[in-house]
Amino acid sequence: MDFTSPADLSPLPNAEAPRDCPLCPRLVAFREDCRAEHPSWWNAPVPAFGDPAAWLAIVGLAPGKHGANRTGRPFTGDYAGDLLYATIAKFGLSDGEYRADRGDGLRLNGAIILNAVKCLPPQNKTLPVEESNCRPFLMTAIDNLPNLDTFIALGKVAHDTLCRSFGIPVAKARFAHGAQHELPGGRRLIDSYHCSRYNQNTRRLDAPMFEDVFREACDGR
Ligand code: SF4
Repeated sequence: MDFTSPADLSPLPNAEAPRDCPLCPRLVAFREDCRAEHPSWWNAPVPAFGDPAAWLAIVGLAPGKHGANRTGRPFTGDYAGDLLYATIAKFGLSDGEYRADRGDGLRLNGAIILNAVKCLPPQNKTLPVEESNCRPFLMTAIDNLPNLDTFIALGKVAHDTLCRSFGIPVAKARFAHGAQHELPGGRRLIDSYHCSRYNQNTRRLDAPMFEDVFREACDGR
């Protein structure tokens, strides 16, 4: 069992949930099942990963079972992470080689990866109450990133969570791949389809489409 605290791994320790965060009973029960089934896995709220001086926040949905929930680092060790970290590297936002292990020494430059929900949800589907429960951690992370001015939302849940975090009615900022939305404080939100295995296998999202989103985010930098 990995007993490392999420805060100990995080660039934003005061924005992290405790290892045994009790706020979402359904996710706590699933966490306990995973701990029993895979005792060597992370099986806890997944902390932020990246640069505390980030100007760009990439916001995902929630940990994947065999990715972040296993390794303890967002998108690390699963299919979605292969495309995400390759794209991050392509745009010069990382140093080092991604090797699907949180001990690989990879560092992000100017970017940070956050999740709307920090704990693994069954069938990769979160409930609105879980998104609400976890939003204060996301908001604390955002409040602790003084240079942050651009968000990439990976999927509609991340988009909706960010809108709610900034007090924007979701009906007035509809999610669409490549869409951009103004946020308070001169910040901007760019939407992307999630880089999940399902979306890639069904060709809803391919690497050039994903790179277009990052190109837009990095434009002028
Ligand atoms: S999803 Fe967030 S609020 Fe819910 S139990 Fe996990 S860390 Fe706590």
